[in-house]
Amino acid sequence: MRLILILNAGSSSVKCALMTIDDQGEPHDLARGSIDGIGQSAEFSMRFTDGQPAIKEVMATGSTPSHKDALGLILKTVDRLYGLSSLVGAGHRIVHGGPHFVKPIRLDRANIEELRKLTPLAPLHQPHNLAAVDSLFELLPNLPQIGCFDTAFHATMPVIARNFALPKALTEKGIRRYGFHGISYNYISKAFAARDPERAKGRVIVAHLGNGASLCGMINGQSVVNTMGFSALDGLMMGTRAGTLDPAVIFYLMREEKMSAEAVEKMLYSQSGLLGVSGLSNDMRTLRKEAPNNPDAQLALAMFTYRVIREIGSVAAALNGVDALIFTAGIGENDSALRADVINGLNYLGFTLDHDANNRRDILISPSTNPAAFVIPTNEEALIAKATSTLLP
Ligand code: AMP
Repeated sequence: MRLILILNAGSSSVKCALMTIDDQGEPHDLARGSIDGIGQSAEFSMRFTDGQPAIKEVMATGSTPSHKDALGLILKTVDRLYGLSSLVGAGHRIVHGGPHFVKPIRLDRANIEELRKLTPLAPLHQPHNLAAVDSLFELLPNLPQIGCFDTAFHATMPVIARNFALPKALTEKGIRRYGFHGISYNYISKAFAARDPERAKGRVIVAHLGNGASLCGMINGQSVVNTMGFSALDGLMMGTRAGTLDPAVIFYLMREEKMSAEAVEKMLYSQSGLLGVSGLSNDMRTLRKEAPNNPDAQLALAMFTYRVIREIGSVAAALNGVDALIFTAGIGENDSALRADVINGLNYLGFTLDHDANNRRDILISPSTNPAAFVIPTNEEALIAKATSTLLP
């Protein structure tokens, strides 16, 4: 058995997947798991597709568990169930590839140091992504590790979509739009081309609506516009992030409210969005449940929907029209009410909804006219596994 370990390491959690690679190099799910609460009292859970009993346990380390402890536990589990010798490589989700890392790479000492220099561009993600790489090199120095970048898919964005209207010297320093969620968009682009090759050659908008949310406009499967920018703060309203904001608000908060840059950053990343507006939760399911009796939850839902509709209009303008809209990620895949509201808000572009198909969560949720709307579940792990398998020695 050839196993690949997929890792998505955040500040307080590590999500992991185990995939087998068949003779054609295609990945298949074997297990999905996570370790949550790193730095506190971490809990490990893993579910398997091969009949192994699911794991749910509190990590016992004697001290606060680190990323290295988390990886150690994952490797111990792989060893116990399948033998470590079946592990042929690891693939990492790395949020920022900067201007130069525009496709998956085999990670080594030199390129890891280059990636570490990008930390100021993604301070809340990059150090944790790289902590997992460092830890795995310590634990298994000879295991090939591959990095896949969330920015890479957007390397095809034209300069007019990429640059801010800032002085040229700043643009040359890399202060520009990069775009994110690229691993998800890359997966969806390929999945859509396999399902509907003709339409995939046209103008496609993908709405990745999860706790993080963005839109990508594609032409012929390539990214030409993305609502996220220099950071993953830009664009749509999200679970805990504000999305697009007049930058003057930040000066005001710093000058008049005496907030530090760190305090503003924390507020914009983790205390805003659905959570900030509702004062209740960043979880769409909770807001849907509470909305009938809670005007703040209702407003949060209405604002989220409004922002999606408004930004789709902007992306459609950049594409000079739209042939397909694809919903994906936690909210996009599961919230049929949100999809219905968005499509109703896009009647002016020619979209109509097939209510039954939407409620059943079919792949095609509108009449198959132009434009048409789809729901395609994302699978970032499968894309990383495939990229990893092609780069293994
Ligand atoms: P993700 O970041 O892609 O895992 O998506 C997380 C978001 O998806 C959270 O806001 C969840 O509340 C939302 N979500 C998951 N399942 C559902 C569902 N059945 N209905 C509405 N939202 C959902």
